Amino acid sequence: MQKNIQLKLLPSEASTDSGIKESAALAIGCQVEEIKGFTILKRSLDARGRQAWFILTLRVFVNEPLQPETSRIVKMAFRNVSSAKNTVIIIGAGPAGIFAALKLIEEGIQPIILERGKDVRARRRDIAILNKEGSLNPESNYCFGEGGAGTYSDGKLYTRSSKRGDINRILKLLFFFGAGENILFDSHPHIGTNKLPDIISRMRQYILDSGGKFLFGKRVVDFILENGIVKAVKSDDGDLFEANAFILATGHSARDIFILLQDKKIVIEPKPFAVGIRIEHPQSLIDGIQYHGYQDLPPASYSLVEQVKGRGVFSFCMCPGGIIAPASTSPGELVVNGWSPSKRNNPYANSGIVVTIGEKELEDYSRWGPLAGMYFQKSLEEKAFEQGGGKFIAPAQRMVDFVQSRISSTLPPCSYIPGIHSSPLKDSLPPFVYEGLSRAFVAFGKKMKGYYTNEAVILSTESRTSSPVRIPRNPIDLSHPQFENLYPCGEGAGYAGGIVSAAMDGEKVASQIALKFV
Ligand SMILES: Cc1cc2nc3c(=O)[nH]c(=O)nc-3n(C[C@H](O)[C@H](O)[C@H](O)COP(=O)(O)OP(=O)(O)OC[C@H]3O[C@@H](n4cnc5c(N)ncnc54)[C@H](O)[C@@H]3O)c2cc1C
Repeated sequence: MQKNIQLKLLPSEASTDSGIKESAALAIGCQVEEIKGFTILKRSLDARGRQAWFILTLRVFVNEPLQPETSRIVKMAFRNVSSAKNTVIIIGAGPAGIFAALKLIEEGIQPIILERGKDVRARRRDIAILNKEGSLNPESNYCFGEGGAGTYSDGKLYTRSSKRGDINRILKLLFFFGAGENILFDSHPHIGTNKLPDIISRMRQYILDSGGKFLFGKRVVDFILENGIVKAVKSDDGDLFEANAFILATGHSARDIFILLQDKKIVIEPKPFAVGIRIEHPQSLIDGIQYHGYQDLPPASYSLVEQVKGRGVFSFCMCPGGIIAPASTSPGELVVNGWSPSKRNNPYANSGIVVTIGEKELEDYSRWGPLAGMYFQKSLEEKAFEQGGGKFIAPAQRMVDFVQSRISSTLPPCSYIPGIHSSPLKDSLPPFVYEGLSRAFVAFGKKMKGYYTNEAVILSTESRTSSPVRIPRNPIDLSHPQFENLYPCGEGAGYAGGIVSAAMDGEKVASQIALKFV
């Protein structure tokens, strides 16, 4: 007999198979020995009250052997597309580009991925040099290279964009390529930076084995346009690539692509975004606040939002047990972001805290037209780089000192490997961003007692939360309004804000292309 049940368990009960079996037997009214196995269908942690609980939904096998959960196995139909009638060039091997390639293969279309960066292994070396020596390779870094910004990201897999596609299918595909099964049942699935590179490599291998192509070191620098279609794209080494359709999935750090589009008079539009700083607390402090002293729970996270003078200020990409990383893509520009390993076992909790930017704030940049937001981001990044003193050392300040406009005479230990340098961050942030952050910090301290503290350190600048540009597309077939075979896709085009939503957008665009080729 199989029975689906829900259990509310103490963390100690939920942490072992025997603890779960005992509670399940009690709930079902059978002997523990009769339970031959169980599958976790859903798992969430409720730590709002004085007592923390795990809420589990289980399929329990009573007096019958445990069976695999077949609905978790995604059906990847291996098709050899090496001599397919239709080929599609995908520019950019981030989640959008890779998931588009997988979908095209399913549809019998050959994907050819052009990626400016290197494969994950070579990329790892460039990231190590950036962290240790402060020397940036503009083509191979935290944002550029195989897997895109997703590879060395935190790997949190939750998204608010459930309407945009089939989230479960993306999670199942990640599981198929090696992610842990827990991503299929945890309410806040997380892979971790240490696990992502191998998953991405397996996806590449699948694409190659299926007859797709994956070309590294191919930075697209031009579109060859003819009679309302893209005829070919040109890479920086002069190679031309022709195809039936082109998916542009270059992410929101590919500023050269935005500039190229504008130069070629391919319509782009401004899009709202947010900028701010990254803050780091000791993880133990956040655990103490969130868990009311309760021990033995996974590192705690938080999500905060505040309205300051009609402007939203919110936490973004919170990384429990994480590391702050230099996510710059050009020398002389400092961008910070965060990640955490699968175990989330670093002693720090970091999060972006960002302020929404509207058109009014960009008036000084209006000469750049739809690229106003991009140049605004760039100017903040340049100021932060200068303030840090070079080599991607980040300007930093303790939290209360920041709010009270006091220079920090000392800084606490921090996870950011290139190093931090005490600076008055107010000097390099626009006044409305400084005011928004300051007021929000005080308000956050009231919502989470102990959050507003000089034990926390703030690093500048968190400027690339989402794309400042949208590349328009036809609502029906998702092609660009001017070029019927050009498909803007993923975060850079303004249709995604994370790994899962970018992957879903990649699939969506690939499906539309397949419909056209029928
Ligand atoms: C440190 C960090 C942590 C993050 N943590 C999370 C998280 O926990 N959860 C989450 O959902 N999201 C996270 N993100 C964001 C997430 O990684 C992105 O939203 C996602 O990768 C966007 O996917 P994409 O495919 O649209 O673009 P990208 O991942 O940016 O990929 C674009 C690709 O295009 C390539 N490219 C650019 N220009 C060219 C060109 N001219 N020619 C050829 N190739 C080009 C780039 O090299 C890159 O590989 C994080 C990002 C960073 C940097």
